[in-house]
Amino acid sequence: MTTMVKDAAAGEFHPVSTPDYLPQAQLRALQLGRLKGMVLRAYQHQELFRQRMVQAGLTPDDVESLEDLPRLPFTVKTDLRDTYPFGLFASPMQDVVRLHASSGTTGKPIVVAYTQQDVAVWSSVMVRTLAACGLHAGDIIQNAYGYGLFTGGLGAHYGAEALGATVIPISGGNTDRQIMVMRDFGVTAICCTPSYFLHLLDRASEMGVDVRSLPLRAGVFGAEPWTDELRLHVEQAGGIKAYDIYGLTEIIGPGVGSECRCQDGLHLFEDHFYPEIINPQTGQVLPEGQEGELVLTTLSKQAMPMIRYRTRDITAVLPEPCPCGRTIRRIRRISRRSDDMFIIRGVNVFPSQVEAALLTVEGTLPHYQIILSREKGLDQMEVQVEVTPEVFSDKVRALEELQKKLSRALENALNIRVQVSLVGPRTIQRSEGKAKRVIDRRNQ
Ligand code: ADP
Ligand code: ZN
Repeated sequence: MTTMVKDAAAGEFHPVSTPDYLPQAQLRALQLGRLKGMVLRAYQHQELFRQRMVQAGLTPDDVESLEDLPRLPFTVKTDLRDTYPFGLFASPMQDVVRLHASSGTTGKPIVVAYTQQDVAVWSSVMVRTLAACGLHAGDIIQNAYGYGLFTGGLGAHYGAEALGATVIPISGGNTDRQIMVMRDFGVTAICCTPSYFLHLLDRASEMGVDVRSLPLRAGVFGAEPWTDELRLHVEQAGGIKAYDIYGLTEIIGPGVGSECRCQDGLHLFEDHFYPEIINPQTGQVLPEGQEGELVLTTLSKQAMPMIRYRTRDITAVLPEPCPCGRTIRRIRRISRRSDDMFIIRGVNVFPSQVEAALLTVEGTLPHYQIILSREKGLDQMEVQVEVTPEVFSDKVRALEELQKKLSRALENALNIRVQVSLVGPRTIQRSEGKAKRVIDRRNQ
């Protein structure tokens, strides 16, 4: 319990965070009890799940320990689409107090539901998230996640209020006003996507505002993959600590996992969301430490239980205890989602590999876009990358030199030839939410 006191001294401990520190045995017992209840609930109220259980010759009684979980059928994203809009709800609409939908990065939106209790759990895991990022009552939090059907805005909002902080519900967009508010209201923490914060920093410097001189000390960034290189950049340019948080609509929204002050992996709030890592090809469960697809089972969700939901996010469960004292397990930062990957001339490429390679070369801004096309039947990959105003106004020689360096860095990282185009500052379109990194014109 000494670690709890230490964290409390750092202003990090909130009573709602108590489950973060449960002794292992107690945590596993809690998980098993909840899992049994969840499987029964899904079996009784989710037609699709019951059918699959029957096909597999299973009943809820077959879950006697956490080790039985791999015997249960998976749930996948298309299940949500196929049963659109309300087919997986396990509560009558009368008990549903909120609906959300995914941002639809990969197609038709999917709809999710919350009971009053689900909303309370969501707030509590967001309090635990913000507390793990070192925030507390007294902080002034600018919430620039989009409010609306997207879960980011309201998720962070309720968490920040329940934490006792002051929330500024500014939502995404209107960047000049964001900067004015950040400066005038004495904002100490901001919640948004990492790519939007990068945009805010650029705009602030154009407006002559030095974010480093403001009280802002923490960024709570999630909803899209971002690299350690980008973290270093925004921490230095913003004079903040940048924390990674993780969540997805299907499971609850933001609040599934969060970094702590160690910034070394994200703690999963596993008393509510039970993790497994599987081989995405075979579906086999992999041992701790090995990388694969994250599968999550909700343990307390009433309106929409998710049993063994395949997230398509690639990570590993880290077996080592965290120096912060939390006993809930961590996952490695999610560098990619399996549906982000594109194949070019037979080589698998993730946007995060491109980002990491670009950020090793000085003179560019971390704004980039990947354009895929097909010429004479051959796949072509172009990476457009913005260069700093200083470099852009430099001599042609310097630009050529930079272009060569970037091509080399990319070819080393990806093992394929890539065309690099240097573009001026602010030419690549900015997003208020998730950045769109890849434009695929190969089938046009
Ligand atoms: P979608 O983007 O599928 O429309 P969501 O808005 O629910 O739906 O986004 C959830 C997805 O966003 C996750 O499955 C994951 O791929 C990505 N994501 C969320 N947080 C992070 C993070 N911190 N790092 C990397 N990816 C993240
Ligand atoms: Zn920790």
